Amino acid sequence: MREISSAWKKKGETIGFVPTMGCLHPGHMSLVERAKNENSKVVLSIFVNPAQFAPGEDFERYPRDFERDEKFCKKKGVDIIFYPSAGEMYPAKNSTVISLPRLANKLCGKTRAGHFKGVTLVVTKLFNIISPQKAYFGQKDYQQYRIIQTLTDDLNFPTEIVLCPIVREESGLALSSRNIYLNKREKKAAERIYATLMKAKETTNMRELEEFLKEEELITVEYLKLVDSYTLHTNAKGSLVVIAAYVGKTRLIDNILL
Ligand code: AMP
Repeated sequence: MREISSAWKKKGETIGFVPTMGCLHPGHMSLVERAKNENSKVVLSIFVNPAQFAPGEDFERYPRDFERDEKFCKKKGVDIIFYPSAGEMYPAKNSTVISLPRLANKLCGKTRAGHFKGVTLVVTKLFNIISPQKAYFGQKDYQQYRIIQTLTDDLNFPTEIVLCPIVREESGLALSSRNIYLNKREKKAAERIYATLMKAKETTNMRELEEFLKEEELITVEYLKLVDSYTLHTNAKGSLVVIAAYVGKTRLIDNILL
């Protein structure tokens, strides 16, 4: 990957990078389309990163379908799928920890122990291997985006971080590889998450919004907050509403920038 990347750069090509965990859907593809428009080469990585799953999370059962993903990528004109094994990415037990506690200890970081340390480690490794001019991240994982953006600034990566809008089903449900865990009834219930975000355009009374979200009995709220979109601190004047909720046993996240 390194050899290809430096040969491309010598020829004056620009590299757009889309990191994913595979099980690709149109949300991922919107990132690819943007990367295609803005660069001469597109690299998409597929790596279900063990370091970002806490014990007891869904690492083992996370959906994987390389052949389907490969077809998706060919159709969309991805130049290279970077598809390393866990052994290649982590040949030895890692000693390096990259942590951004101010951004990572809140919201999803509160319940997903070590999750963002796994994310920052793998993204740093991927950036060092691929050395892209631009990297594309979805707004759906907004906290991840803020962490990567800060990491990139702090460590002087020569990579521009591009935030891409959330792609949704017609019902409003944000596309996610984890949506395949939902049965029909749960999928219907999950629509309440987007409905709550839409309601946040009318009121930012969080108690009222939480009541509305909880009216759907299959939903268990992990957090529903109005936060500052830069610091992620809870702020009554913030512009970002973030939700994490279980629908049955499936944990979903979503957000809206007001
Ligand atoms: P994942 O494979 O879930 O790790 O996601 C890889 C990238 O795709 C991340 O930057 C996500 O934020 C982004 N992504 C996932 N779902 C969506 C979506 N519905 N719309 C836009 N981007 C998404």
